[in-house]
Amino acid sequence: MAASRGELLGLTADELAALMVDWGEKPYHGRQLYGALYRRRQLDPESMTELSRSLRRKLESCVISLPRLQKRQRAADGTEKYLLELADGEKIECVLIPERKRNTLCISTQAGCPLDCRFCLTAMLGFGRNLNPAEILGQILYVLADRNLAIYSEGDGSRPALTNLVLMGMGEPLLNLDNVLKTLIILADPGGMAFSPRRITLSTVGLVPQLRKLAQAPVVPNLAVSLSATTDEVRDRLMPINRRYPIDTILRACADYPLKRNQRVTFEYVLMDGVNDSDDDARRLVKLLARLRSKVNLLPLNPGNANGLRPSPPERVNRFREILTGRSLPAYVRKPRGMDIYAACGQLHLAAGHHSRTTRTSRLDAIS
Ligand code: SF4
Repeated sequence: MAASRGELLGLTADELAALMVDWGEKPYHGRQLYGALYRRRQLDPESMTELSRSLRRKLESCVISLPRLQKRQRAADGTEKYLLELADGEKIECVLIPERKRNTLCISTQAGCPLDCRFCLTAMLGFGRNLNPAEILGQILYVLADRNLAIYSEGDGSRPALTNLVLMGMGEPLLNLDNVLKTLIILADPGGMAFSPRRITLSTVGLVPQLRKLAQAPVVPNLAVSLSATTDEVRDRLMPINRRYPIDTILRACADYPLKRNQRVTFEYVLMDGVNDSDDDARRLVKLLARLRSKVNLLPLNPGNANGLRPSPPERVNRFREILTGRSLPAYVRKPRGMDIYAACGQLHLAAGHHSRTTRTSRLDAIS
C-alpha cells in the first residue's frame, strides 16, 4: 500500500483511502489528504489544517519527499533546466519551456535510458533505474513550487500557470509503463491536479505491446512517436529498438490508438544531414503515414552528437517540410529550445561532472 519508508506521494486517491482505513480512520480522510497533496500541494502535514490534529501526528511518520535541486540553468530563450537528485543519489533532469501562451514541463521517467538511439545524448548515460510515481510527480511539484506556478485548471490569471506536460525527458516512458500509468491517473484526477489528458503528451520510440496497453489505459495521453527514418534499414542503425519493433508494426499500433476529435498522432522526425533527409525520405514518409491521422514535427539534430551525425542544413529542412505539406501532411519545424544549456530534445545528459555512469550498452535483450 504505502510506498517504502511510508512515502505518501505517488499514492492514488483509492490507495490513500485504503491507508486511512488501515490506520483506523474514515476513508474520506484519504480524499482530503489527496486534495492537500496534489490540489493544494501542501507537503508539510502541519499545514494540512483540514485534517484532525491526531491524523496530522500520524502523517508525520510518513515521508513526503521531493527531489533535491542540484543545479538550475536558464537559457537565453528563457528555458530552464533542473538537475535533480533522487533519494538514492540517482540524478535526473526536467525542463520548463515558457512560451507566449503556455508553459510546458518536460519530465523524465527513467534515470538514464537503456535504449541506444544514436542521435540522443541521454543514451550515453546508460541506464540507472525506473522512476516511481513519486519521483515522476516530484519533478512537477518541485517546479510548480520553485516558479510559483499555478496549474492551468486552477488559473485565475493572477499568476502564470503550467499548461502542458510532456513525458519526453530522460528515458523511454513505455519501459516504465506501470509507474507511468499510475502517474497519469494521479495527474488527471479532478480531485487533484486535474490535468486534462489532452494536455499531456507521451513520447515513445514505439514499443508495440506497451503502446497497445497504453491505448487501453484509464487515462490516455496524446501520443508522440519518435520515428526519424522511413526505412527499417536506416532506422535499425539510428534506433536499434527498431529490430524488435519495425516501422510497420509501430504504425499498425498507432492506427489503433484512440484519438478524440481533432487529435492526431505526432511523429517526431530528427533530421540528420545525408542520413534521413532526402526528397525520397520525405515522399516515403507521406506514404507511410497516409492512412493515419497524424502530423510531423521536424527537429533538426541538436549539436553535441558523439556519433558523427550532423544536423540537416536549413534549406534541406525547409524542402523536406514543403514535400510533406505539399502532399497534405501537416508538418512543423520545431524551434530548438534551450540549446545553449543542453536542454533541447535529445540533449538531456546531466550537467558535466554529474554523470552517474558512462557505459552505454544496448539492452535490447532485456526488453520484452
Ligand atoms: S531518444 Fe529517448 S528512448 Fe532514445 S535513447 Fe534518448 S531518451 Fe532513450
